Amino acid sequence: MTTPVNPLANSHQYWESLRTQGFSLPQCQSCKTFHFYLRPACPVCASLDIKAVEASGRGSVYSFSIVYRAPSAAFEKDVPYVVALVATDEGPHLMTRLINVKPEGVAIGMRVVVSGWRTCNDPAEQVSDGVAPPLFEPESS
Ligand SMILES: [Zn+2]
Repeated sequence: MTTPVNPLANSHQYWESLRTQGFSLPQCQSCKTFHFYLRPACPVCASLDIKAVEASGRGSVYSFSIVYRAPSAAFEKDVPYVVALVATDEGPHLMTRLINVKPEGVAIGMRVVVSGWRTCNDPAEQVSDGVAPPLFEPESS
């Protein structure tokens, strides 16, 4: 019998940092480059000294898509909603959802800020012990 691979095993440090220190991004402690997703080695200098560091939580919309058809029953109340690729001010891009904005109000380059974490009671959506990915909203909200 094979043991299922836990896709969260290598990212536990990142999710734990979200829980304990707020929005953070992995940063190489040797060359100070931020990157995302959490990797065991720096993609720039290959250092193994990676630490999740508190980040500004600010960025801009790099790209986005409007979801009209819920992928599961858990999202039916949310459609239509916006899935966006946000370029953080620290550099890394991350996939997220935009909240507190109508889909027709979203534009490339729009300034956004971390709004918090989705309250998640559905275990299928949780990343780890109730922690779900951070969400963003327009900076002026
Ligand atoms: Zn580095």
